[in-house]
Amino acid sequence: MGRRRRKVVKIVRRTLPEFYLCPRCGKNTVKATINRKRGQVTVVCGNCGLNAAFSIQPQMAEVDAYCLFVDSYYGAESKEETPVA
Ligand SMILES: [Zn+2]
Repeated sequence: MGRRRRKVVKIVRRTLPEFYLCPRCGKNTVKATINRKRGQVTVVCGNCGLNAAFSIQPQMAEVDAYCLFVDSYYGAESKEETPVA
């Protein structure tokens, strides 16, 4: 009677996503590449071609570069800075 359904075990990978959301075109096609030899990270959108390069800090990860990328994109529109209290 009634076969038991095989339990589907999901393997949760603890890896960071490779692609990020582009602030310009809204696609999940932004990729950050860290070049530790050069001390630089490049962030490029594979869809619209939006790109930026930053110098990396110690312990910096791809996601941090992506944050800088987004900040600089929006920062280019409004130069006002909010002081951190
Ligand atoms: Zn884009």
